Amino acid sequence: MMKIVETIKEMQNILKAHRKEGKTVGFVPTMGYLHEGHLALVRESKKTCGITAASIFVNPLQFGPKEDLAKYPRDFERDRALLAKEGADYIFCPSSEEMYPDGFQTFVELEKVTKNLCGASRPGHFRGVTTVVNKLFNAVPCDKAFFGEKDFQQLAAIKRMVKDLNIDMEIIGVPIVREADGLAMSSRNTYLSEGERKSALCLYAAITEARKTVSGGVSDPKEILAKAQQVITNTPGTRIDYVKLCDVETLEYIEDVKIKGAVLLALAVFVGRTRLIDNTILEV
Ligand code: AMP
Repeated sequence: MMKIVETIKEMQNILKAHRKEGKTVGFVPTMGYLHEGHLALVRESKKTCGITAASIFVNPLQFGPKEDLAKYPRDFERDRALLAKEGADYIFCPSSEEMYPDGFQTFVELEKVTKNLCGASRPGHFRGVTTVVNKLFNAVPCDKAFFGEKDFQQLAAIKRMVKDLNIDMEIIGVPIVREADGLAMSSRNTYLSEGERKSALCLYAAITEARKTVSGGVSDPKEILAKAQQVITNTPGTRIDYVKLCDVETLEYIEDVKIKGAVLLALAVFVGRTRLIDNTILEV
């Protein structure tokens, strides 16, 4: 039977007891409104961990003042049913007051890997992410935590944070889960109108175009980016936030030198008012 836990103390006590029994605990942090991308993380945890805990917490700290915190989709009953069906053992769903009581004032902030891409477009976002993930790691004592490659920069930041702060855990990245037509699954896809849902395909189409360009022998970053950008600018109702090639570890932009080996193509595009992100590793 899956158990729902709302307080930090109870979650800590339960999982500490499991670990004392010698069980491996896997943890899947989410903001809820679950889809197949989230469920892939749960399945990955179940493969190697005796106990799997998922969290559902829409973290106010990672939303900017003009972002979608208030309208972020929520459906706890649906999420509960999906997690039960996957065989998760615990849902940790604290209130905002439980996570951020009066007087809260400690933050975790990385200096480099969070500067570019979404870090540049969403000031304070990653400070909110790394702070809450660090808190969640303390509230949900675990051996392994699972994160989607969909949020590649988030995954890179968390891996770096765990290394830098000597957090004794393994961080596991899970490949992007896509809809049949290529759109990366996201809770925010529910914001899209029918027309916007079609336009949203331009992110995957841009990735496909970049892959094709690279496999055609092009290694000039400007040429690859121009091809990818063109796919988006040709799509009605869209606006590019960024389309960038980056070093896969540091996420520094690659703008002039010819690309070689594995590089990250990362993009963020507004489709109507909805901001979508996607990425892929290009192998040259
Ligand atoms: P979120 O609820 O959006 O904060 O996402 C929770 C976790 O699910 C994060 O580690 C995301 O990277 C991951 N995730 C979200 N969408 C996908 C997807 N389409 N494929 C794989 N992982 C995903």
